[in-house]
Amino acid sequence: MKTGIHPNYKTATVKCSCGNTFETTSTKEEIRIETCSECHPFYTGRQKFAEAGGRIDRFNKKYGLKQELKN
Ligand SMILES: [Zn+2]
Repeated sequence: MKTGIHPNYKTATVKCSCGNTFETTSTKEEIRIETCSECHPFYTGRQKFAEAGGRIDRFNKKYGLKQELKN
């Protein structure tokens, strides 16, 4: 059996910029990420979700304008 063709997987500590850490399996011992399930806007409803709300607001204004034209 040849050696060196398979990555040497080990337990890695993932460190998120929010301070959350969790373990996974990787070829690296430490992984730094910017968003995790603890701080991702999709899960928290914070941060970029507010920007999406702004876009929805603008959409609603356009939609409202169309409604006015119909009436
Ligand atoms: Zn995080």
